[in-house]
Amino acid sequence: MEHNQDSKFEETFLPMTSVGNGVGMAVLPDVYCYTDKIVNLVLVGDPNKSGEFVLIDTGMPKSAEKIMEMIQEHFGERAIPKAIVLTHGHFDHVGSVAELLEEWKIPVYAHELELPFLTGQCDYPPGDPNVDSGLVAKLSPMFPNHGINISDYVHVLPADGTIPNMPNWKWVHTPGHTPGHISLFREHDRVLIAGDAFVTVKQESLYKVMTQTQEISGPPKYYTTDWEAAFESVKKLEALKPQVVVTGHGLPMGGEELAESLWYLVEHFDEIGRPKSGRYVN
Ligand SMILES: [Zn+2]
Ligand SMILES: [Zn+2]
Repeated sequence: MEHNQDSKFEETFLPMTSVGNGVGMAVLPDVYCYTDKIVNLVLVGDPNKSGEFVLIDTGMPKSAEKIMEMIQEHFGERAIPKAIVLTHGHFDHVGSVAELLEEWKIPVYAHELELPFLTGQCDYPPGDPNVDSGLVAKLSPMFPNHGINISDYVHVLPADGTIPNMPNWKWVHTPGHTPGHISLFREHDRVLIAGDAFVTVKQESLYKVMTQTQEISGPPKYYTTDWEAAFESVKKLEALKPQVVVTGHGLPMGGEELAESLWYLVEHFDEIGRPKSGRYVN
């Protein structure tokens, strides 16, 4: 079974990459966004200050070595993060977490509602190909949807909204895409790490993913199971008035463009966010 899933995955996922693959970008001195094929992970911490940092999400399967190299380039040869924070447990966000933990043996933090998917108790529902005509949506039933088991390392995020090792940051529950999806926000400079609560590329389209065409979009449609909650989460994030955002897919966005795009997404969620039809729509 396991083997089957993996070979299916190899076959279907090889074409999934983008012009951003392997590219890193310092969004702020202490917020570094790195694109692994089609998904972003973020390092929070200033290499020129304490050198302490936290890794948000862990990229695609089989990317552990590349991620460790990227971290060494950015933070120095022996650098390892203080912790990992997961926005949610989809395969493209936890892809390399188990391998990284084998090397690092550090704590992982996630929302308690996401824990069943991270402790081997639950699988996610499969991707829904009916949400969009885009090729990624069509391929999505082939993506791995099984939960992982990192129960030796994973902890529930503190209930007071704080994030261990990330002073000044708060986590915000943004369910809909998954039950325990979180975003991370820093009030004083209004930086938002939004995971897949909304994204800045139309993730259902292979062409737009490959070219990383910038376009505000709701959460990736094929995987989102609760559209009412997803809409509430987008409204919650818009109300934070972020200045800069790093989303799980697509390029970082900021300033007026972000403010206008997010407002547009809230106002037109039924047209551009929510799919017209699909397994999880009604
Ligand atoms: Zn996701
Ligand atoms: Zn994603």
